[in-house]
Amino acid sequence: MDWTRSRSEKLYEQACTIMPGGVNSPVRSFKGMGTAPAFIKSGRGAYLIDEDGHDYVDYICSWGPLLHGHCHPSIRSALENQLSRGWTYGAPTEAEIHLAELVRNMMPCMQMMRMVNSGTEATMSAIRLARGVTKRKKIIKFNGCYHGHGDSLLVQMGSGGLTFGEPNSPGVLADLAQHTLVAEYNDLEQVENLFREYRTDIAGIILEPIPGNMGLLFPQSGFLEGLRSLCDEYGSLLIFDEVMTGFRVAQGGACEVYGVEPDLVCLGKVIGGGLPVGAYGGKRELMQEISPIGGVYQAGTLSGNPLAMVAGFETLKRLQEIKPWKQFNDYMSELAAGFKNAASRANIDLQFNSMGSMFGFFFHPGPVTTKLEVDKCDFLRFKHFFVGMLEKGIYLAPSQYEAGFLSTVHGSEELSRTINSIESCMETLDS
Ligand code: PLP
Repeated sequence: MDWTRSRSEKLYEQACTIMPGGVNSPVRSFKGMGTAPAFIKSGRGAYLIDEDGHDYVDYICSWGPLLHGHCHPSIRSALENQLSRGWTYGAPTEAEIHLAELVRNMMPCMQMMRMVNSGTEATMSAIRLARGVTKRKKIIKFNGCYHGHGDSLLVQMGSGGLTFGEPNSPGVLADLAQHTLVAEYNDLEQVENLFREYRTDIAGIILEPIPGNMGLLFPQSGFLEGLRSLCDEYGSLLIFDEVMTGFRVAQGGACEVYGVEPDLVCLGKVIGGGLPVGAYGGKRELMQEISPIGGVYQAGTLSGNPLAMVAGFETLKRLQEIKPWKQFNDYMSELAAGFKNAASRANIDLQFNSMGSMFGFFFHPGPVTTKLEVDKCDFLRFKHFFVGMLEKGIYLAPSQYEAGFLSTVHGSEELSRTINSIESCMETLDS
């Protein structure tokens, strides 16, 4: 098959004249991979079809939301049904209650919640709430965890480890960044030291309990429990950002997997079934501090949009009905074996991690448990592998720092195409 993407390249050139980097979200540009992005014409089941007519097994799934693949018939019919009755009212609907009740049913710690339009909005609002109720300024985040592009969270570790964070984008004020303290993920001692130093200044800790924005990593035994105890001891809030892991690592997200109950949870991606939705929620007494009953202000013209509510509801309802967890595990075991066998034949160091419908692989001998270790991966080898796989019709995330996603419609056909492609790519892989 001819994998040249001449139409995509032309569209990319055109897009670059009107949108920064030709895209509406940076990671889509494939910057760093040395190739133009495929422009997508349609999606069908587990496949994306580009403007040049190539089909790709899609392991990005719109960066997580498409748990049941593209154009799933039941989600589509729920959308069509809602569309015929209007697509926004700016007024309350029963669909909002249905989705919220289903979320609470699957994630009981979401006692009360507020729907927003993105994961970024969810984390920004949760931070505001944490600061509002504790009347404290500082938050702790972890090196390598991504929580969207809110100013308080676009902050990186300052030089000297235990200091306050530094903006990692121009335009984020240092005055604000100084209130975000950054620790290394899985390093409880660093967090203890931050609490000792800043004591009752810390409004809360926000983290991806299972990080998916530095590949896929896992919390080490006792880490999440330790954070919970520190928050209890110092009167701070524990915020789990499950925008990515919610409904993907398990029905009840990382909260269910590790049995640690946060004070607030942020959701996004799957909760909207592919339409723009986020949510934040948690303990009732905290959520009652949100306006209009409480004083912490947060609002949204399109929040709780009926199209998004029905797409999210159908997506979660289907997840609850079909319980695909064994299917995901079986697929992941074979995918892991495919990666590991091909890598060992080619004498390449590789670590593969997966949980539920998420996976990550590192060109690194492992174990990889912190961002510092992810930084030591073989990035050049990743780039060659990515391009090789793309040219075999396998659409992986264009960065060693991104996780991969499965949908419930990925099956044996997609698996064997993927494993064959991995084998032939690894054989010729240079670093
Ligand atoms: N939190 C996490 C863990 C994410 O992975 C993302 C996005 O990838 C966000 C928050 C931000 O979500 P959004 O892109 O919908 O604003």
